[in-house]
Amino acid sequence: MDARKVEKVLTAAGEPKFRLKQALDAVYKGNLSTWAEASTLPAPLRERLDKEAPVLALAAHRVLVSEDGRAHKAALRLGDGCLVEAVLLKPKPVDDWSVCVSTQVGCAMGCTFCATGLMGLRRNLTAEEIQDQVLFWRGYLKSHRLEGRVSNVVYMGMGEPFHNYANVADSLRALLDPERVGLSARHVSVSTVGIVPGIEKFGDDFPTVNLALSLHAANDSLREKIVPANRAYDTGMLKEALKMYLKKTGRKVFIEYVLLAGENDRLRDAFALGKFVHACGRPDLLHVNLIAWNPTATKHTAPEQDHPRKFKEALEGLGVSVTVRRNLGTDIQGACGQLITRLPPPRVGAPRREGPKTTRPAAEPRAGRENRKRPGGGRFRPLS
Ligand code: SAH
Ligand code: SF4
Repeated sequence: MDARKVEKVLTAAGEPKFRLKQALDAVYKGNLSTWAEASTLPAPLRERLDKEAPVLALAAHRVLVSEDGRAHKAALRLGDGCLVEAVLLKPKPVDDWSVCVSTQVGCAMGCTFCATGLMGLRRNLTAEEIQDQVLFWRGYLKSHRLEGRVSNVVYMGMGEPFHNYANVADSLRALLDPERVGLSARHVSVSTVGIVPGIEKFGDDFPTVNLALSLHAANDSLREKIVPANRAYDTGMLKEALKMYLKKTGRKVFIEYVLLAGENDRLRDAFALGKFVHACGRPDLLHVNLIAWNPTATKHTAPEQDHPRKFKEALEGLGVSVTVRRNLGTDIQGACGQLITRLPPPRVGAPRREGPKTTRPAAEPRAGRENRKRPGGGRFRPLS
């Protein structure tokens, strides 16, 4: 919802001043998805708002529900016809739901194991489109009479949040504002592939929101192969960024590590990861989440069933705190790294958009070596 658009409509309709708060409260506190449901507003105004400033900047195209009912995945249609996916998850048996939001249509980073990376980048999502994914799922819980509420939001859907920093930051402000969505910062997490200037800025702007770093390999030669963004921001730069972040915020950081059979799941990889964790200076503040690779149309293999536990034990032996993450929603392709949508054809003769271009996977992180040590400089400009 774009509050400024709502305000404009109310002013043009000659509505009294109090109407704005009444309208916003109807959405934020009443979990509405359309103005038609806002019984506190006059009927003609509801109609006008639905036409000129709809509650949601997106609409459900398709929703899939996992066999166990603990994962719901929606393909959401945006105003320009693009689709993004967002997921509603119930990680624990209690009635607390987590929403996994997307930040871009596709992703430019091209990690070799991730379905979204196969799409390339079509465009950034606006702050409104990011925030509305949460409003969509709150309305869904209500309309489907599902128990519980959305208490966690993770920025782990399609796209790289720090490649769309400004809009991600605005959406976070909306989620954390007690007058708007009103989530607690401790229940919001942002995951990055390791865009160093983003990590630095995030530590300044949102020191109480959780940060996750998708590392997947702790040495450069291996990480470059599976995470092309490592060519712009290598493991040495990530170590320094984490050290600074930990000093500044004193907050726990989650290190995400996807286990790919025979590639990054050997004993020597566990040693390299243990060394990385200790080199950041505060092993007590780093927590590793191991994720068995979820199948995607990429050339990798999941580890044997028992292997994540063995890798975990090796890390624990090195004094690293570790969890093996359960994968919810694999049966509906709704687990980490499985989100992908078909892109609409580009509009023929349409004027070129401002901002991010359609990019092939990893085109930007493959900046030349001369740009490597210049965060934010050269061709790879991650902050927008
Ligand atoms: N772009 C951000 C956030 C979205 S990806 C990032 O990379 O951190 C969310 C998480 O899913 C990341 O940790 C990512 O590495 C992981 N992931 C990607 N593909 C995966 C796969 N096939 N199996 C398991 N996890 C995957
Ligand atoms: Fe992009 Fe994250 Fe997928 Fe890498 S893992 S391609 S950064 S969405």
